[in-house]
Amino acid sequence: MTATASRVLVLNSGSSSVKYQLLDMEPDSAGGSAAGTRLAVGLVERIGEETSRLAHTPLATGGGTRETEGPIADHEAALKAVAAELSADGLGLDSPQLAAIGHRVVHGGLKFTAPTVIDDAVLKEIERLVPVAPLHNPANITGIRTAQALRPDLPQVAVFDTAFHTTMPEYAARYAIDVETADAHRIRRYGFHGTSHAYVSRKTAGLLGKDPSEVNVIVLHLGNGASASAVAGGRCVDTSMGLTPLEGLVMGTRSGDIDPAVTFHLKRVAGMSEDDVDVLLNKKSGLVGLCGDNDMREIRRRIDEGDERARLAFDIYIHRLKKYIGAYTAVLGRVDAVAFTAGVGENAAPVRAAAVAGLEEMGLAVDADLNAVRSGEPRLISPEYARVAVAVVPTDEELEIAQQTYALVNA
Ligand code: ADP
Repeated sequence: MTATASRVLVLNSGSSSVKYQLLDMEPDSAGGSAAGTRLAVGLVERIGEETSRLAHTPLATGGGTRETEGPIADHEAALKAVAAELSADGLGLDSPQLAAIGHRVVHGGLKFTAPTVIDDAVLKEIERLVPVAPLHNPANITGIRTAQALRPDLPQVAVFDTAFHTTMPEYAARYAIDVETADAHRIRRYGFHGTSHAYVSRKTAGLLGKDPSEVNVIVLHLGNGASASAVAGGRCVDTSMGLTPLEGLVMGTRSGDIDPAVTFHLKRVAGMSEDDVDVLLNKKSGLVGLCGDNDMREIRRRIDEGDERARLAFDIYIHRLKKYIGAYTAVLGRVDAVAFTAGVGENAAPVRAAAVAGLEEMGLAVDADLNAVRSGEPRLISPEYARVAVAVVPTDEELEIAQQTYALVNA
């Protein structure tokens, strides 16, 4: 690595997609900490199909989004296409300014509690975790191998979705099932969205003018996938997702918490197969299962038109959220802030208002005017008198991955 190497490429490899961002982590010339300037962002989707699509936006040059459609056979072809797009803007992967590649890896099990430079042993361990993350880790591994082949000399760093949650105490992480069975199959609550929970809880502390070690925060990451976490003094002490991302809040297409006996019932009485139940709970449940839509904008529009199914779906979503706010208030003992983030949390004012409505006794309230403000900046939406701050904090998982990656390779 040369002294000028300050760029980090962040890769988020899914089973049929690759999302990427190239960031410059050099502090601004004023010596401040404005590191994290985005140079290019993009997405390859439908990899392996005839209709693959690459959308690339070279922010550094101020150019507009370039879209290319046509078959991209696999992840290797996808990354090569991304590399070609970056080269066209003078930002190629062969640049000496590239310091590292940071990979989002969904499941790091218990072993990976921090970002980790990838070597063969690390890759083997990520592979060993495939049985607990069959949908995500194989795609992440493919992304890592492909990037290694393109730049074998460059540090590649894994940033794990689960890492932030590894501080959960054993009594929060264990399911109350037979210990031998649980241990034999590594069944426990791992939690996900950790990169977002870490970033947002830290930003929330900043918004309160405090150090993360001084504050207790409930983070509500409400995107298509949704999870809550209880963060005490910067450390996660509980989170709503479990062995897989299915547990917890009502999500776009996932049920969240459910009596596991429902699955026996579906198999024994409704004659569904294992895979049918998996698809039902992960893809056809949550908001989409309840009312046919998983986009909160559409659900709100339907509610405004008097649609009862949309109303009930919204009410179920909010009821679950409230239960987690209450539960995590009890877990934390003292709550300094509740922070809303991700697509729904950042944009849906009615969700924020409804989630804390009636919780004044717990010190929670939302100021209607502040809540209605649309902004991409972290902000407080609670009235001054409220004991607990309510915040909207836009998440930035790519920036967090880039920061963790850059810090590690410069350590
Ligand atoms: P993920 O990363 O989990 O795919 P996001 O965090 O991007 O999801 O959130 C996507 C969701 O955010 C959408 O499904 C939609 O419900 C919600 N959303 C996005 N914009 C708005 C908006 N302006 N108002 C209400 N909800 C929104």
